[in-house]
Amino acid sequence: MSERIETAAVLGAGLMGTGIAAHLAGAGIRTHLLDMVPKDAGPSPKDRNRLPTEALRRALKSKPATFYDPTAAELVVPGNFEDHLDRLSECDIVIEAVVENVDIKRSLFAKVEKVLPAHAVLASNTSGLKIADMTRDLSPELRSRFLVLHFFNPVRYMRLLEIIPGPDTDSNVVARCARFGEFLGKGVVFGKDTVNFIANRIGIYAMMKAVHSMDEFELSIEEVDKIAGAPMGRPKSAAFGTADLVGLDTFLHVADNCFRNLPDDEERAVFEPPAWVKKLVDDGALGRKAGRGFFKKDGKDILVYEPSTGEYREQKKVRFDSIGAARNIEEPGARIAKMLEGDDKAAGFAWHTLAHTLVYAARRLGEISDDIVQIDRAMRWGFNWDLGPFETWDAIGVHQSVERMKAEGFEVPPAVTDMLASGRSSFYAGPLSEQTFFDIRTNKPAPVPVDPKHIRLSAVKENESRVVRSNLGASLVDLGDGALCLEVHTKMNTIDDDVIEMMGAAVEEAERNFEALVIGNDGAHFGAGANLMLVFMGAQQGDWTSIDKAIRGLQDALQGLRYAKIPVVAAPFQYTFGGCAEIAMAADACEAHAETYIGLVEVGAGLVPAGGGCLRMVERWTRPLEGVDEVDRLPFIGKASLQIATAQVATGAEEGQRYRYLRATDGISLNRDHLLYHAKERALGMARAGYRPPRPRKIAAAGIDAAQTIAIRVWGMMEGGFATEHDGKIARKVAHILCGGDVLPGTEVTEQHVLDLEREAFLSLCGEEKTQARIQSLLMTNKPLRN
Ligand code: NAD
Repeated sequence: MSERIETAAVLGAGLMGTGIAAHLAGAGIRTHLLDMVPKDAGPSPKDRNRLPTEALRRALKSKPATFYDPTAAELVVPGNFEDHLDRLSECDIVIEAVVENVDIKRSLFAKVEKVLPAHAVLASNTSGLKIADMTRDLSPELRSRFLVLHFFNPVRYMRLLEIIPGPDTDSNVVARCARFGEFLGKGVVFGKDTVNFIANRIGIYAMMKAVHSMDEFELSIEEVDKIAGAPMGRPKSAAFGTADLVGLDTFLHVADNCFRNLPDDEERAVFEPPAWVKKLVDDGALGRKAGRGFFKKDGKDILVYEPSTGEYREQKKVRFDSIGAARNIEEPGARIAKMLEGDDKAAGFAWHTLAHTLVYAARRLGEISDDIVQIDRAMRWGFNWDLGPFETWDAIGVHQSVERMKAEGFEVPPAVTDMLASGRSSFYAGPLSEQTFFDIRTNKPAPVPVDPKHIRLSAVKENESRVVRSNLGASLVDLGDGALCLEVHTKMNTIDDDVIEMMGAAVEEAERNFEALVIGNDGAHFGAGANLMLVFMGAQQGDWTSIDKAIRGLQDALQGLRYAKIPVVAAPFQYTFGGCAEIAMAADACEAHAETYIGLVEVGAGLVPAGGGCLRMVERWTRPLEGVDEVDRLPFIGKASLQIATAQVATGAEEGQRYRYLRATDGISLNRDHLLYHAKERALGMARAGYRPPRPRKIAAAGIDAAQTIAIRVWGMMEGGFATEHDGKIARKVAHILCGGDVLPGTEVTEQHVLDLEREAFLSLCGEEKTQARIQSLLMTNKPLRN
């Protein structure tokens, strides 16, 4: 069987089908998207393909974007079930995502069977139908190539992919799909063919338990969400907000599926929604998509539903001591434990709902999955919980909590009591690099499965000999095979003196003892830019010497990276702002995660990029023009200036390439876990292919006239109300730098000349009151100020 998936088909161009097709196209896979011929369709192909065509059009307009990049839509070929099923004969995989009705799916599969090539996989994206029921009429041979691939909505952004093999599915097909899922960037979890699989079974239980318990604890909707969100290591949208986000109809549909199809579930009643929730759905209050659900947007306010009156009302301030005590604890396990320590009703509610959820999850072992690792990962990746149920249980102490549960009359499942009886006091144990979990199949510890392409710096660093050097802000970590990694680990990975010092040390160390340098980290973001607090303090005290020194330090360090004798590869992902974008731009190459939000955003803080960001933009927008006689650089510099002056942030790596923050030749990885591995491979590949460092080159400046033309455009933007006066001042400084200062067009300037212009502009802006007010606003409220 050929392994590579080059062509796919998705059947059903609804919410999920379109999302899956867009994701496959984003991964470079040609994808047929087929749907029904509308009943009123005329004979033209355009009309007969109307459903997928319109679905694609909507997807291209959606926010947040369904596609990584709109151009990927060219890889999606719309068609219909009546005229185009023969296209499946060229597919390596067919994923069905039509309406959740077993008869409809079955009759479609019968048609698919006639055209599906012998090597292709047939998958369903059903949320809860049984595989045996769906495949009853299929040949045993096709049943061996059939499985459920349960994607989550929105497909681009939700990490989880549940793979559910049927009784007859070939294990090679399962493995092939797991590799495919990982390539698509998904976190793959294996589940069993049970109602709603893993994540929805536990996640909807937890949400419904919160809904049912609010009366008992006399809590309002907004109070429940404040407790069940961050303090419990769950997303801010918590229970009711999450239901609004996914749609109350979908939420109740999944709950109802459990209620109807799990007659023996000991907690079945929890899946039955209270009458007031059903009424909301009957009234069309389906959540965000309907403009109202448990919450309702009213101008700038968000009102909340009051079940006792059936009306929406203003939200009340939620204040509980337990939440206050837990709020600022960063580590989620410690935060949850602190929340449960409280003695108010919020803490009581938190304990009550959590204890039930933990016991419910433990009781599902063997039923929905055989091991706790799958369940924990499913909840983190599918419901964005910080910790899965068993990880949470470890964090709050299994012994203590089981004692409390027993005292309160809970029946603690044998999976947990057996573990405690075996002398083991936590589900997970040992250092990250050798972590074990308690396996209920054997009642013994088993190694936690690790993905060999997932380089976890925290695990590598457990071996002290791999930490080459370290300070408070950054470390140098030996990745093996001749690759050194520069890891920034400040708060939000911002750049401070420690980080700058370590950049210099990284180059020195890598040149001396390694073949290549990689820049990346394990955190939530590549980095949010320079540490503004330091800039603010310097500016307030008028300590220009320190600021000047800091900028020179950053510029020198980044130029050091740029011209290092070994290849340097950065691995940006998520927030890659300001100075951190400049780090990525200084590297020889990037291996970026598809979800990289990169931009030179200094204008938001009333500043200009001064770590070589302007220099790199000039280089990237005008170097291709070299050798072209008399070419006008203005349009290119104008574009680059505007980008910086409006703090354009790319909404993904492909857009980042279009803005030239990333190069067209930079790599894009869909799988976040594989990013460092790919970066390392790329860096070592460059080293082994005979790396030749770049050499500094002069730049032909666009000159003073170009800067003046841009300044006139800026003036137009101010007149039109699109820019404030201070925006205008900064934009003119950006143009001045990018045009090479007060020089004639075509004058050859050095890189240091442009860097000096950056530094001058940065320093002069630091002295401006309005810039200081912008920085202060970002530091105090995290909100940009447009003054
Ligand atoms: P949807 O209503 O958005 O789309 C359903 C699709 O089925 C449409 O393209 C429609 O044209 C097609 N369809 C309707 N009747 C049909 C028929 N008689 N024959 C053939 N096609 C028909 O639904 P969705 O939310 O995209 O769900 C699709 C599948 O994905 C379902 O099995 C659902 O359980 C599953 N799923 C949904 C979600 C979710 O969050 N919505 C998540 C995971 C899985």
